[in-house]
Amino acid sequence: MNINTKFIFVTGGVCSSLGKGISIASLGLLLEGHGCNVSIIKMDPYLNIDPGTMSPFQHGEVYVTEDGAETDLDLGYYERFTSGEYTRKNSVTTGQIYHAVIQRERRGDYLGRTVQVIPHITDEIKSRIYNVAAAYDLDFVMVEIGGTVGDIESIPFLEAIRQIRQELGSNRVLNVHLTLVPTLSGAGEQKTKPTQHSVKELMELGIIPDILLCRSSQPLSADLKSKIALFCNVSERNVISAPDIKGSIYQIPFMFHENEYDSIVLEHFKMDVKRFSVPAWDKFMKSLLNPTQEVRIAVVGKYISLQDSYRSIYEAIIHGAAANNARLDIVRVDSEDLEKTSELVEEIFQEVDGILVPGGFGDRGIEGKIMAISRARTKGMPFFGICLGLQCAVIEFGRAMCGLTGANSKEFDPGTPHPVISLLEDQEIVLEKGGTMRLGAYPCRLGDGTRVRAIYGKELVMERHRHRYEFTNRYREAYEKGGMVFGGTNPAVNLVETIELPNHPWFIATQFHPEFKSKPTDPHPLFRDFIRASIEYREKSNPSR
Ligand code: GLN
Repeated sequence: MNINTKFIFVTGGVCSSLGKGISIASLGLLLEGHGCNVSIIKMDPYLNIDPGTMSPFQHGEVYVTEDGAETDLDLGYYERFTSGEYTRKNSVTTGQIYHAVIQRERRGDYLGRTVQVIPHITDEIKSRIYNVAAAYDLDFVMVEIGGTVGDIESIPFLEAIRQIRQELGSNRVLNVHLTLVPTLSGAGEQKTKPTQHSVKELMELGIIPDILLCRSSQPLSADLKSKIALFCNVSERNVISAPDIKGSIYQIPFMFHENEYDSIVLEHFKMDVKRFSVPAWDKFMKSLLNPTQEVRIAVVGKYISLQDSYRSIYEAIIHGAAANNARLDIVRVDSEDLEKTSELVEEIFQEVDGILVPGGFGDRGIEGKIMAISRARTKGMPFFGICLGLQCAVIEFGRAMCGLTGANSKEFDPGTPHPVISLLEDQEIVLEKGGTMRLGAYPCRLGDGTRVRAIYGKELVMERHRHRYEFTNRYREAYEKGGMVFGGTNPAVNLVETIELPNHPWFIATQFHPEFKSKPTDPHPLFRDFIRASIEYREKSNPSR
């Protein structure tokens, strides 16, 4: 481990959903802007090994890293905001910690000792943090402790970070506490008491916060800051106001920079506050905030009512729109609603410029997605299908254009006469659910003369996967006769990775998840081109809009 690596721990107080993930990712971007290398670890206090087995209703999106870890969606923010490399090392859960310790106990590694939360669980937590520091030559390892201080389940993590401060000293460790300063609607007054209580709770666990990052609806006044400083034992300068932002989450790093969060962090470590520059981010923000055109994209899914189930999809669409200088309007369409009435399909899609069908599991809402895809295909409207979206497009096309009546995926109809989407043999025998899908990055070769090849501008790409089912290769010929082109395939095992319709303005679907690799500063080519085509469709189909 680099003996100069510094550790920043971020805990959360008062309540959840304060944006800890975005705030730590934003600080990461700012520190990179000062020329530092950073990595961020998410520590989740739940007992699942990873969120892969959790429902989107419980957890939001499952984010997938290049090396195939199924992680918390905060990893997505880390990757989008910073340039660090994120792997399964960056996503730690209580489940993983206990699993490792118990396996060691069964092997007899503890040599007759009693295995305990302290030191064995806390040692395992610390080793996960030190491992990231050791794997890369880093200036900063930042650690986000999931949950809220006061939760029983996060106590071992807090004890571990207390010990790290004890081991390394305050010149290598900084504690940030993200907290809420609510405004009471009746009195219109900002209240500091919840923050005082949260800090007290933290101190009882032996953790002294160095910085309080205070979320509030309005900026904190100087008076309020000094009150918080006095009661919470931090310097006034280190009480940082983080008010709600009206526009985009991508403005948060600049708001932090204006409030000197990055300088305060560097000062703590007695590091020079070097010249700050984030030119790629500046460029992205300029296009995001000064759109010259408009585009409206429908996302058709089953978990539309939830904010975070398609988080990376929404972000990748935002990046694609900014790259085209377009103001974006995302219309969230519940695929189950579409099944109720076909008039609704017309009504909704008349008003949009492109349709995206994202990934998903299970048969609910499938026919609604197929109706949306059929509308896009027959009306020449841009369509982008991702994972399950590709599978639905294959079903729709098989039924409509290849004479495969009743075509379906074996996932939804195991007895279908035409299983155009099915399991590979090695997946048929898989019994365990956790971590057994086709996960992480695989190569994809893009065929000569295909649209995907032109969009990517190269022959070989690496894209991330999270699925069990595949296109059934014996139907390839029937589909090619119907007019479908299999643009991208896996070079080693010949699995279908992308489909396209050359006779359609923009009809592309991918078995992989390109949304996981889109960044504001490096929008994914497929999303960028999908938005470009949608703007073109808008101009042609309805120039008055
Ligand atoms: N349910 C499908 C499969 O397992 C699609 C998965 C997805 O969209 N991520 O193959």
